[in-house]
Amino acid sequence: MLNKTEKEINKLIKELTLDEKLTMIHGVALFKSGAVERLGIPGIVTSDGPMGVREQFMDDRWVPTNDNASFVTYLPCNSALASTWNVDRAYESGKVLGEEARNRGKDVILAPGINIKRDPLCGRNFEYMSEDPALTAKMAVPFVKGVQENDVAACLKHFAVNGQETARMVVDMRADERTLREIYLPAFKACVDAGLLTIMGAYNKLNGESCCENKVLLDEILRNEWGFDGAVISDWGGVYNTKNAAMVSLDLEMSIFSEWDDYKFANPLKAMIESGEIPEAKVDEKVRNLLRLMYRLKMLGKDTDKRQKGSINTESHRQAALHTAEESFVLLKNKSNVLPLDAKKLKTVLVVGDNASRVHSNGGGSAEIKALYEVCPLMGIRNYLGGNCEVKYAKGYYVPEKTKAFESNWQEASLDSIKETRIGQLDADINLAYYDNAPEEKRRADFEAEKAIIKEKNQALFEEALAEAKKADAVIFVGGLNHNIDSEGIDKIDMSLPYGQDELIEKLLKVRPDTVVTFISGTSVEMPWIEKADTILWGYYAGMETGNAFAHVLFGEVNPSGKLAETFPVKFSDTAEAKNGEYYKIDKVELKEGIYVGYRYFEKNNIKPAFPFGYGLSYTNFDYSDLKLESKKNGDVTVTFAIKNIGKTAGAESAQVYVCPVDSKVDRPVKELKGFTKVFLNPGKSKKVSVTLTKQDFAYYNVDTHDFEVEKGVVKIAVGASSEDIRLTAVMER
Ligand code: BGC
Repeated sequence: MLNKTEKEINKLIKELTLDEKLTMIHGVALFKSGAVERLGIPGIVTSDGPMGVREQFMDDRWVPTNDNASFVTYLPCNSALASTWNVDRAYESGKVLGEEARNRGKDVILAPGINIKRDPLCGRNFEYMSEDPALTAKMAVPFVKGVQENDVAACLKHFAVNGQETARMVVDMRADERTLREIYLPAFKACVDAGLLTIMGAYNKLNGESCCENKVLLDEILRNEWGFDGAVISDWGGVYNTKNAAMVSLDLEMSIFSEWDDYKFANPLKAMIESGEIPEAKVDEKVRNLLRLMYRLKMLGKDTDKRQKGSINTESHRQAALHTAEESFVLLKNKSNVLPLDAKKLKTVLVVGDNASRVHSNGGGSAEIKALYEVCPLMGIRNYLGGNCEVKYAKGYYVPEKTKAFESNWQEASLDSIKETRIGQLDADINLAYYDNAPEEKRRADFEAEKAIIKEKNQALFEEALAEAKKADAVIFVGGLNHNIDSEGIDKIDMSLPYGQDELIEKLLKVRPDTVVTFISGTSVEMPWIEKADTILWGYYAGMETGNAFAHVLFGEVNPSGKLAETFPVKFSDTAEAKNGEYYKIDKVELKEGIYVGYRYFEKNNIKPAFPFGYGLSYTNFDYSDLKLESKKNGDVTVTFAIKNIGKTAGAESAQVYVCPVDSKVDRPVKELKGFTKVFLNPGKSKKVSVTLTKQDFAYYNVDTHDFEVEKGVVKIAVGASSEDIRLTAVMER
């Protein structure tokens, strides 16, 4: 029996002409699909992106409208959010984004990005959450809910295995079935199960077929198996072949050029329908999914007057940004307890490093936004210490101006390449030319030439910083990456710190071993000086309140509670993709490591990382005790234990529950994260917590039966403060 909405949808489909239907399934503006005014059907208005609602663009050009109404709340990036290990923060971030998107009149917000971080070189890692599917799923679901409670659809991206930017429109990511099912798909599925309304097909190919044209991915898995009845939207310019895309469950084609009639789902599709090559029913299915989305968003139907109107730039949005930022900082080392710094004892502080005074909101590709404001770390420190402490700033190292590739809007710059090739298959070289970043040899040569310039310019900057460092009461280095490096469209050349920072850090540590070494970055970096540094604080791009949050953590107003959502390798050559040479390739990337992504790889191969997955220190210590497992009739297992704050400072701990198969007949990871909980505790206080594991949490994917399977046998449950720091274990029979 069809429900009332589906009946109404069917009625509308019958009334629509072919031209009207076609206008609904492709872009008629850079961020909008076609409307059918005759029947009161609106267009769907979309916007990037994951850290805030992107600046308004003109309908037909990648030129910002430049009005002063596009300022928004700048939220911590997804890597920062995931480092909080706090599902409430994920919900809150989604809620802020949804409220602001709705207030700006958007129907779909192109977020969150949840690709599994397989490769530390990926330029978009900052937009993604984690290397781990369970952590990603558990953070993405509340985020999506938070967005969608505002009558705005989240558009989960990029489906799927969109793990590198190099040749992103042509590269074929080759993953075996088990790897897809255990690593790359679970977080997408979790969001679908939780009521996700839209999903974005990725640019890349997956096992030979472009994701937006991929029958296995879109028809078999997403629609048939997972029962997704929301809308599938292409990435911008991600449809390459009219027939392939029309025949699969892709509903809306978006792109980056403004000849709307040339979109694959416009005239080319019309011609194929008229010639009988593609049945019109295929278009009807797409229209049906889009109309259903409109009903759900109250764009159509009886509840349109009840649709929420959202809110923007509110104090509570800024508070949300601040608190997430505070919880996102990860204390990597505090060997001599230099942190927290005692503000009362400081008369002069030296802050060194370009990232101390850099703002990041306006870069990174489609994730760029026009932040209402952004407090940089230097401002945050000065704000906190006030006028009675002299806070000096030394830039420390030279950062070259943006390269040619970044002069104009990068999406606009990519327009010609897409235009030229839109009739045929995209050419790898053209794609790579977008950002002037390839071929690889050229990039490397440019990189080396740039290094020489930096070296020369750095001499004076180093001298200044070192001279000042000798005099100050405290020295805070704020380095890392920026969005010239962490960006859509380019992968990193290597994992090293750019701009001569390693050399400066070494020198600083020599004159001031108590230097507080801190970073703002989008991905892990190599730290060759690590043994010499006692104090390291890690931060991702943490939104408009970065600087204040940073100061709160440095001066102990907030106890750091972030934990790494990704393994930090000692060096890039330790990673699976480096060992296998499967990265930075333009034709195909074989995911040879299979399910052994991130810590699964490091543990399996006994490779010691610089900092393990799940790791992060606090200004206090926590004790774990009383682990109990209780098996329920439905197959669930309740894992109960107590956590006690045994230090002198209030703080929060993210306790992690790993499942470790003991006598499995199948090749399985040493351990896999399956649950976690974050507890806030005053000194001396303890709390009993419990994490529920479902039957699925014990399963592996059996490629013979093509299904998840729970093996009989012994399983160890490990509860820890990180993947390496296991505090409690218990075994059980399955
Ligand atoms: C990106 C998407 C983004 C879209 C619209 C694409 O280049 O890959 O993540 O949402 O552009 O700006």
